Amino acid sequence: MLNIVLFGPPGAGKGTQSERIIEKYGLKHLSTGDIFRANIKGETELGKLAKSYIDKGQLVPDEVTINMLKSEFKKVENPKGFIFDGFPRTNAQAAALDEFLTSENTAISGMVALDVEESELRERLRKRAEVSGRTDDADPNIIQNRINVYKAETLPVKEYYQKQDKYSEINGIGSLDEVTARLFKAIDSL
Ligand code: AMP
Repeated sequence: MLNIVLFGPPGAGKGTQSERIIEKYGLKHLSTGDIFRANIKGETELGKLAKSYIDKGQLVPDEVTINMLKSEFKKVENPKGFIFDGFPRTNAQAAALDEFLTSENTAISGMVALDVEESELRERLRKRAEVSGRTDDADPNIIQNRINVYKAETLPVKEYYQKQDKYSEINGIGSLDEVTARLFKAIDSL
C-alpha cells in the first residue's frame, strides 16, 4: 500500500492537493478535519465534542481523534493506500498511527510537507473564509490560535518522520498545477 501523510500548516493547500493525489494514485482520502466537519453537520455526539475545540482553534483530544481515524480506516475495503490529511498533528498521534498500521500489516510510505510562509497562509485563509463557510477561517484570533498550535504541537511531527528517514518537503507557493507537479515528483520517489 502507498500511505502518504500530507503535512503543512492551515491554509497550505493540503485539501486541494489531496484531491489531485487521490485521483492519480487511487488512494483513499482520510482528512480528520473533514470527518469532524461531517460529524458537526450531522449533529453527532462526536461532532458536538469536536466543535467545542474547533471553534477555539484548538486540537481535538488525541484519544478521540485517533479512535475516529482507526474506525474510518477500517471501513475501507481493499484499499490501495491512504492519504492522511491533517493527521497526525501531534507526536502521540504519529506514534499511535505507526502502531495501528503495523497491526494492519502496513506502514507509512512517507510524509510530504507543503512549505508556505505565514503571511501567505493568513491571506489564503482569509480568502477561503469567503467561500468555505468555515467559522474557524473567518476570525483572525482563531486563525492565529491554529497557527500557534501548529508551531507548538504539530511541527514536532516533522522530526518524528525525519528520524525514520521518511520526510520530504516541497515549495507550496506557485500555481496549483506547479505545486501538484512537485508533489507527484516527491511521491514517485518515495
Ligand atoms: P483542518 O480541516 O485540518 O484545518 O482541521 C480543522 C480543525 O479540526 C482543527 O483546527 C482542529 O481543531 C481539528 N482537527 C483536525 N484534525 C485534527 C487532528 N489530527 N487532531 C486534533 N484536532 C484536529
